[in-house]
Amino acid sequence: MKTNENNPDFGKDFFAKRSQNKKIVDNVFAMGVRVEKAKKLYGDSVINGTIGSLLDEQENILIFDAIKSTYYALSTKEHFSYADTFSGTNDYKEAVKNWIFLPKHLEALKEFHIEVTASPGASGAVSSAIHNFLDPGEKLLISHISYPIYDFSIKEYGALTVEYSLFTQDLNFNFDDLEKKAWEILKTQDKLVLLLNDPCQNPTGYSLSRSEWATLCELLNKIAQVKKVVFLLDIAYIDFDPRGKNLTRNFLFEIAKLHKNVFTILMFSCSKSFSCYGLRSGAQIAITQSKDVIDAYKNIQYCSCLGIWATTSRVAMTLFATILSNPNYLQALEIEQEKSRDILCDRADIFIEEADLVGLKHYPYGGGFFITLIEPNTPEKIDKFISLCADNHIFLIPLKNGIRIAISSIPIRKIPGLATKLKKILTTLHLL
Ligand code: PLP
Repeated sequence: MKTNENNPDFGKDFFAKRSQNKKIVDNVFAMGVRVEKAKKLYGDSVINGTIGSLLDEQENILIFDAIKSTYYALSTKEHFSYADTFSGTNDYKEAVKNWIFLPKHLEALKEFHIEVTASPGASGAVSSAIHNFLDPGEKLLISHISYPIYDFSIKEYGALTVEYSLFTQDLNFNFDDLEKKAWEILKTQDKLVLLLNDPCQNPTGYSLSRSEWATLCELLNKIAQVKKVVFLLDIAYIDFDPRGKNLTRNFLFEIAKLHKNVFTILMFSCSKSFSCYGLRSGAQIAITQSKDVIDAYKNIQYCSCLGIWATTSRVAMTLFATILSNPNYLQALEIEQEKSRDILCDRADIFIEEADLVGLKHYPYGGGFFITLIEPNTPEKIDKFISLCADNHIFLIPLKNGIRIAISSIPIRKIPGLATKLKKILTTLHLL
């Protein structure tokens, strides 16, 4: 232990060795501070494309009335007491299950065991999955463009990543590279752990088609002939897919064809689906053909609940269980959700039509909160682009290989002209 304060490691010495080299790089919250400053100076001319929450046309958080009224009608006890159980209340587990699986999916999955465990948001679900499925130094397979916050959970538990290229040259899903990287990992590792976010992927907005789902599951089954596969599927944006509740969930028919050596965990977010980000509620949904696997899962995941967050929010669990068990509330909620999908579609349509017209290249968008520009894609150019955008009162999120535009936070009135401005900034950048 260095006791001299002038030693650069003096502060670090207090910490465990595995934590000493952590470094926070948080573009989203840091950008939020810049946006607030700009708003004070430039008012409504500011375009804020940074926020991963759905904002309404007045740029306030879009809250579903069905959720709000049910929330405020809950008793004081529900708001303030601990939850009765650490893995989630039975009513909540049942509500989540019925929300994700329609009867036809449950029928297709009747040979499978399905177990829901409550978590603090999809974040808690992802983080504890990485903790429980990967030893330090083991490799997780993930796409080269993905939700940047995954990196923190991965590093938190000392896991490593192998990235496959998300798209081919002609912007189709790159199954060849996924398979190639999977086999590379399996040269030195006994199981494959794949993390995928779909539909409405963050940050590209890409959604796998049903036939792509079939190809993916065939590929996982091929690998499962020789090795175990853990398939972590983050479905945070499942309720924002323009295909609608029924069709979006049909990938579950492909999940129902997975080999017994594939263990699937869905990661669900109440933050996104029900627009209540601060209530920190979500779930892991484990799906397997094996009773032994589900029993082991329950034991291991329940220990993580107790060991990491103890219990999740009681009021959130009661809220969803109440809404989802009441047909009238449920219908009201579904109408509001459909409207929110329409808002996103309208914003995306305007942006994409103009982007295509002016030649501003973006990844294929299927729905959801974000669209990602293909260029600029080098760190220096990305930094410069972001600062030129800020000079034009436009705020976007820099990724390590692109620019993310949160159409979730830009009202329709600010979208016409945006793609043209971004194209001009890009042209200026190329001339520098
Ligand atoms: N997964 C993805 C792909 C996300 O975009 C987000 C939030 O932006 C999360 C998980 C975390 O969501 P939650 O608020 O449920 O923790």
